[in-house]
This record gives sequence, C-alpha cells and structure tokens, in this order.
Amino acid sequence: MDCDVCVIGSGAGGGPVALTLAEAGYSVVVLEKGPWLTEQDFFKDEIACCRRNTYTLNLQEEFHVVEEYNGKKGWVARPTYDSSWDFWNGNMVGGSSNLMSGFFHRLKPKDFRLLSEFGPIEGANIADWPIDYDELEPYYSKVEHVVGISGRVVDHPNQEPRSTADFPFAPTAEHPIANWFDETCQRERLHSIPVPRAILPHRALGRDGCQYSGYCGSYGCSTGAKGSSRAALLNRAVVSGNCDIRPDSHVYRLDSDASGRVVAASYYAANGSAETVRAQIFVVACQAIETSRLLLLSPGSRHPHGLANNHGQVGRNLLFSAGGAGTGSFFYARLDQDKAAELDRLDADGVIGGHSGLPFTDLVEDRLWHNAGSVGLPANDGTPRAWFSVLAPDGDGIAITHHPLDYDHARAAAKMRAAGLPAAYARTLEDGLWPDMRVLPEAERRLRARPLTPGAVHWSARRPRAAR
Ligand SMILES: Cc1cc2nc3c(=O)[nH]c(=O)nc-3n(C[C@H](O)[C@H](O)[C@H](O)COP(=O)(O)OP(=O)(O)OC[C@H]3O[C@@H](n4cnc5c(N)ncnc54)[C@H](O)[C@@H]3O)c2cc1C
Ligand code: SF4
Repeated sequence: MDCDVCVIGSGAGGGPVALTLAEAGYSVVVLEKGPWLTEQDFFKDEIACCRRNTYTLNLQEEFHVVEEYNGKKGWVARPTYDSSWDFWNGNMVGGSSNLMSGFFHRLKPKDFRLLSEFGPIEGANIADWPIDYDELEPYYSKVEHVVGISGRVVDHPNQEPRSTADFPFAPTAEHPIANWFDETCQRERLHSIPVPRAILPHRALGRDGCQYSGYCGSYGCSTGAKGSSRAALLNRAVVSGNCDIRPDSHVYRLDSDASGRVVAASYYAANGSAETVRAQIFVVACQAIETSRLLLLSPGSRHPHGLANNHGQVGRNLLFSAGGAGTGSFFYARLDQDKAAELDRLDADGVIGGHSGLPFTDLVEDRLWHNAGSVGLPANDGTPRAWFSVLAPDGDGIAITHHPLDYDHARAAAKMRAAGLPAAYARTLEDGLWPDMRVLPEAERRLRARPLTPGAVHWSARRPRAAR
C-alpha cells in the first residue's frame, strides 16, 4: 500500500479532503493532471490568460463533444475544437480555484430543498439534498476561517442563518463605483451587500494580502491573497508532512478487485511513464465532467459499465450554476460587408445601435444601420461634443438626424478625477480625443481630430433616398 488515501484532482473539491486527512495523520497522495504553479508563475496578460490555453488544455489535444438540439436535424454533436466552446477551467495544482474571482457565497437553506420548494421540472431529475443547511452550517463557518474569507454581514431579507456574527476578515477595499450602486439600490429599495471574497485584505494565515492587481477572476494570484485550494489548503497539507502532491499526473483508470473495491489508480506521470498508486481509499475530485469520465473509463467485473454506474446514472444528473453574460460587437461606418453579414444573421431590415460614441447612419443597399453615438463619450473628432440622434416619422419612412450635445464637460471630467476614475478618459471628455484607438479600424483612426458633420438621412425600409 502506497498511502492511506489517494485524492485525484487538487481543486476546490480535492484540497479540503487532502488537508483535513493529512492534518489528522493519514498519509495522502494527491494526483493532479496539471503543473504545480506558484505565485511567481502567475502573470497578468489578458490575451494569454483569457483567450489562449495558458492554464487549460489545448482543445485540439483534449476536446469535449457537445450535443445540441437543432430542430429539424435533431441532436447534432460537435467537438469543442470546432465549436470553440471550452469547458476546461484550470488544470494545475489547486485547479480552477486558482483562477476564481473568489466570490464566496453560501448556499441558501432553500437550495437544499429545490424539489420541495419549486416542484419538478419535466425531463429533469431534481431531488432535495439528503442533508439540510443547518447540518452544513458549522462547516461553512470552518471553511471561512481556514480559507480566509473577507466580507461584512449586513441585514438582508435573504441572509442565511450563521453561527458566527461576521466573516473572519474585514472586506477588501471597494472600487469607488460601488458606492453609486449602494446609493442607487437604497433609492430603489434593493438590498446591496458587500460580496464575501476568498481574498485576504492584509497579510495573514502565512499569505500576503491583496495588492489590488485588478486582474483577479481568470488570473492566478501573485501574492497568495486569493484563497485557492493550493494557496490556502494544499501548501498547509504539505507542511503537515503527510501529503505528497504529484503534479503532471494524469489518472486514466481506477482499478478494482473482484469484490468491486478500488485498489489502485493508474496514471501517466510527467515523463509519460505509466504508474500506479495503491491506497485504502480513493477520492475522485476532477470536477463534474472529468470525474464522470474517469468513472466511465474504469469498468470492472462488478461494474461493467463503469465505476458506480450500475444504474446508468453517472454523468446524467449534472447541475450547473448558470451565469449570465453579455457581449457586444463593434460596427463602424463604411464597413458595409460586416454590416450586411450581421443584418443577414439577424434577418433584419435595420439595426439601431449606440456603441462607442461614433455617430453614423449607413444604408447597406436598402437596409439601415444607425449608430446614435453615445451620450457621455466624445466622437474622437477633437471636440468635446457627445452625440444623440432624433428619429422622426417622415413621409413613407423616417428622418434621422444627428445632434451634438452641449453639456458641462469640464465639470464631468473634474468629477471623474475626484472619483478616482481613469484619468485618460477624464482628459477625453475635455479634448474629445480617445486615449486608445486599438479597437478602431484604420479608416476610423485616420478621421481622428476631424470635426464631424453627420448629415440627415431619410430611410424608408428597402427604398433608400439618401445616404451620408
Ligand atoms: C475564471 C473562473 C472564475 C471563477 N470564479 C468563482 C467565484 O468567484 N466563486 C466561486 O464559488 N466559484 C468560482 N469559479 C468556480 C470554481 O473555481 C469551481 O467551481 C471549483 O474550483 C470546482 O472545484 P472542483 O474541485 O470540482 O474542480 P477544479 O477546482 O477545477 O479541480 C479539478 C482538478 O482536477 C484535475 N483533473 C481533472 N482530470 C484529472 C485526471 N484525470 N487526473 C488527475 N487530475 C485531474 C484538474 O486538472 C483540476 O486541477 C470560477 C471558475 C473559473 C474558471
Ligand atoms: S492580488 Fe488581489 S486582486 Fe490581484 S489576483 Fe490576488 S487577490 Fe486578486
């Protein structure tokens, strides 16, 4: 036997198990597929961290397959290297928790009773949890202390019951804009709360405090302030002397004996050699999808369809905590090909947008693309004017006119500076020039500092009379 317990996957699921058992005196081996990066290895390159596979796997080398229901065609399967969806979240010691934003909410009591509170959903397999919030509460409390959670408990109609009055650490500093949210929420009778964060506001627990790098979610933390499984738990587990972490160790099968009991984990080590770890107990914590994959890849004589899968349920009852996101595309004057393609995609006669402060109205053959400009950002034309537009009925269509907005830009710029908002944008309000033109196509860059004179346009759907 190589150890008492073998933990596979070292993220938010595996880390607490490894720490608790190692500190209780059990010998623990952690097998982690990714490398062991530390504070010195993390950097703040937006493209590398958020757009390229710096901390996740190359989709050509390891892909998932997503099936989507597509009306007439039925279920259509596409590999993720083709769809460019990416479900990898962070492959390294500490897992995705290295990259988390550290928002550290507890579940609410209702979350444990989804079926009884909200009823069944057709086609889904919802069940209440076998435990309730009260049973878990002491552990939430413990985790907040071990990981080092900062925040402030405030009165809130949905505040879950707590055995401790407050979080162990005071909240981290807030961006000045947070006050505006709080004031607006108060006016609207909404309840804003300081979000609990797994971020230390100052040096504690053997880790440095937050240095407000501003690049937090999706980035590794270079100070140790972020309470990742690695920084907060596994480093401590190693200090106990009972925890052996093996990075670059990809487990590909769990081997079981004739009684069905798992006896060994087979893995590829960093040098590509096939190795095994034998243990009394195995904990599989590879995140939901990879955990299911490993179980399904591990059939045995007592479970021919995969480990723990004699009822065919492995991988079938995933519950995701969904998020919302918004994206926008920038479309500029004159680039008619782009706009035509977007109008086709939307199947629309016209689009009315408002991004970026650049007002224009284009007719793409007989279709309309109207950009009102934006109140608040000058048009990069060397004047502090911001723009709005008026659309009025006009015969068989509408008349569209662009208008400069006079406002006290000097006062607005002073207020931005006083609020600590970016100085470059405060200057833009005064001189009307953008501090950064990387987002602009070359044709638009050449128009910098040339005062705009957008003309009026009459548009009748599908029959243009004049373009600017
Ligand atoms: C950018 C980002 C921001 C986030 N922000 C928040 C937040 O603010 N608040 C919050 O609560 N959650 C947040 N999350 C989600 C949170 O990080 C995850 O829910 C959590 O880490 C999941 O824990 P886990 O142990 O299941 O998986 P992970 O933490 O991903 O750990 C799984 C580990 O298993 C390893 N592994 C996989 N397969 C194998 C194998 N076959 N052999 C060996 N090792 C394997 C992986 O390499 C990985 O290290 C965020 C996630 C991301 C990516
Ligand atoms: S220093 Fe602070 S803001 Fe930067 S990554 Fe670490 S916790 Fe996040």
